[in-house]
Amino acid sequence: MENDFTAVLKQLHLKVTPKRQAILAILMNESAYLSPEEIWQRMKKQFGRIGLPTVYRNLEELSERNIISKVTHPNRQLYYYFCTNRSHHHHFVCLSCRNVEDINFCALNELQKEVKRKLNGEIISHILQVNGYCRNCLNKKG
Ligand SMILES: [Zn+2]
Ligand SMILES: [Zn+2]
Ligand SMILES: [Zn+2]
Repeated sequence: MENDFTAVLKQLHLKVTPKRQAILAILMNESAYLSPEEIWQRMKKQFGRIGLPTVYRNLEELSERNIISKVTHPNRQLYYYFCTNRSHHHHFVCLSCRNVEDINFCALNELQKEVKRKLNGEIISHILQVNGYCRNCLNKKG
């Protein structure tokens, strides 16, 4: 497992540090998104007196390079998620159990046409996160 992270970090010209490896390991072992505070709590077990700003900085660096994904929650809390799928896709985020699932669907072509036709503009990037309740949570509600 650790070798995988090392390869990913090296490929992106990020220095391989124990903290970055720990963050990726924590997020990889979770199918749900975690808050920086939760990641910090888990890292304290391994690193002792690590500061929360250090965790924030490392998370920001990893997400800037698209190694981990940001989840923006309606509760305005920021969460992070590690997805191994490297091809272009979007995420379905469960607001209840925090499960994250891949959606291999993207309407970028249609959006591109619409922006061109209506606004005469051009899209250079886009973010799409779909929030909802997953099937497990819907079943529990009955
Ligand atoms: Zn759920
Ligand atoms: Zn994904
Ligand atoms: Zn897309």
